[in-house]
Amino acid sequence: MKWSFRIFTFAGTEVRIHVTFFLLLLFVASQGLMSGQGMAVALESMLFIVTMFACVVLHEFGHVLAARGYGIRTPDITLLPIGGVARLERMPRKPSQEFVVAICGPLVNVIIAAAIFLGLGINAEFNPGYDFLKTGHFFQKLMVWNVFMVVFNLIPAFPMDGGRVLRALLAWFLDYGKATRLAASIGQGIAMLVGIAMLLNKVEFHPMLLLICFFIFMAAGQEAASVTQQEATRDLRVKDAMLTDFRTLPPQATLRDGVTLLLAGTQQDFPVLNLQGGIQGMLTRHDLISALAEKGPAHPVIDVMRRCPDATGPAIDLTQALDALGASDCPALPVIDPLSGELVGLLTAENIGETLMVRAALMKMRTTS
Ligand SMILES: [Zn+2]
Repeated sequence: MKWSFRIFTFAGTEVRIHVTFFLLLLFVASQGLMSGQGMAVALESMLFIVTMFACVVLHEFGHVLAARGYGIRTPDITLLPIGGVARLERMPRKPSQEFVVAICGPLVNVIIAAAIFLGLGINAEFNPGYDFLKTGHFFQKLMVWNVFMVVFNLIPAFPMDGGRVLRALLAWFLDYGKATRLAASIGQGIAMLVGIAMLLNKVEFHPMLLLICFFIFMAAGQEAASVTQQEATRDLRVKDAMLTDFRTLPPQATLRDGVTLLLAGTQQDFPVLNLQGGIQGMLTRHDLISALAEKGPAHPVIDVMRRCPDATGPAIDLTQALDALGASDCPALPVIDPLSGELVGLLTAENIGETLMVRAALMKMRTTS
């Protein structure tokens, strides 16, 4: 993440802090000073914020170490003013594993809260009010903070841990995609109910809470959409979705030759071959048209083509190739046979779309017949 820097590394995971976090500290300090309670109070509030975030880091390490047990690495955790974000390499697809990884974060806060509770003994004056950050003993406040983290993170909605726990539980009975969509809908339903209740004054209005509801609503939808897409391309290889009937341009071709091919069919992007028949670049429709106006039809295509370094193979996972296509600035990826080095296909977003439509239609036919 930009604007963040490393504070330490533990068990192969870098803990980074975002600069906006210091703005939060400054804000808390200035509030403390302006309230006229003096330097000591301001310092204590800052120390409390730092300790709160130490609990957030420990929470994230609960996830990180659990994931590590399943061989999943976490390159970094970034601390933002709104909390911590652990960037796991991937989420486990096995429900039991996702359950463990998701629950281990809040579990850390349960342990911290229990330890403070036992350490302090039961205090009769203890009153976890709404303004717990302003009143109360340092450790009491810290205990309330940890209890709050458990409750907040276990809200059964993506992207909270509770959403993942819910999906893992549902995935025991349903397939992964269905479980995700159901979990996302439940999360969206909760967010919507809380939002509406707030707008109707059934719950105390809080702009921050409304923002969180909105955020949860969007994030849940995104999670469902990304799993649906992963599902659609799962088990598909590049060769299942590539264009195999395509035209190419020889190295000495001119823009006029490109125009002839463009007008002759529906293909929009043309691989430019070298003398040995290997691929040396791609002439896109966009580049062809703009070069035509500037340089004229006799101009060589070699000058205009894009280099396409990221060729893919027919046996590569379609999901992986889709990522490569998205990251490349070429609208088509050449597909090269790894044995012969020959150009065997073109992978375009349009063709992938068509493949998915065909697949969806076939799946529908199979379920209805
Ligand atoms: Zn968590």
